[in-house]
Amino acid sequence: MTPDQSSSPSCEGCGISRDLSLLLYNVRYRASQRRFCTNCVLKNHQGLFCPICFDVYDDSPPPHLRLICHKCPSLAHRSCVVASSDSDATPAFYLCPPCGDPKFTYFKLTSKNPTVAKENGDRDSVDLVAVSAQNGNSIRAVDMQSARVLVAAARIAASSMTKAAAAARIDAERRCKEAALARKKAREALEQVEYLAAKEKDAKGFSA
Ligand SMILES: [Zn+2]
Ligand SMILES: [Zn+2]
Ligand SMILES: [Zn+2]
Repeated sequence: MTPDQSSSPSCEGCGISRDLSLLLYNVRYRASQRRFCTNCVLKNHQGLFCPICFDVYDDSPPPHLRLICHKCPSLAHRSCVVASSDSDATPAFYLCPPCGDPKFTYFKLTSKNPTVAKENGDRDSVDLVAVSAQNGNSIRAVDMQSARVLVAAARIAASSMTKAAAAARIDAERRCKEAALARKKAREALEQVEYLAAKEKDAKGFSA
């Protein structure tokens, strides 16, 4: 990802700054290129990943292995839903995490100090996989869950841009063909004009 200094580095979905969201991704969304934060990438691509284990689907899981959110297109592994709920039964009405809790965010940046967290036995932050130091004491940390969220968003953004690039290439080829056709038509029209002009000249020559 190349940082873009020329325009304001904030999410075009929710307006969060890159500082607070850690990463912004370029994605192709509704026929235009947008810059989204991790949350907005995931919120706008429900159905492409499991909102519990954050696996990105190559193909969506077969019907008997998945649950569809009652309110949105989000698909979860049935096993993930069962494992994360208190009962062993499959819920009659499954709601994905953001539909179940309006305040839910996929990605949260914690500002815990990983060393202190480790000493305190803080389970959430023990699995720290990425740490970015801000200024000495304040350390921003990404726990295992958030790391999975980041990977899912990055994979979705990458596949979105790959598809966009393929679409752009097809579009460019089509435009190229159209341009060639337009040039051919222009040449034919020009030849026609020249032919008519010559004919007119001949006719004038005869009548003079
Ligand atoms: Zn956003
Ligand atoms: Zn899952
Ligand atoms: Zn939902």
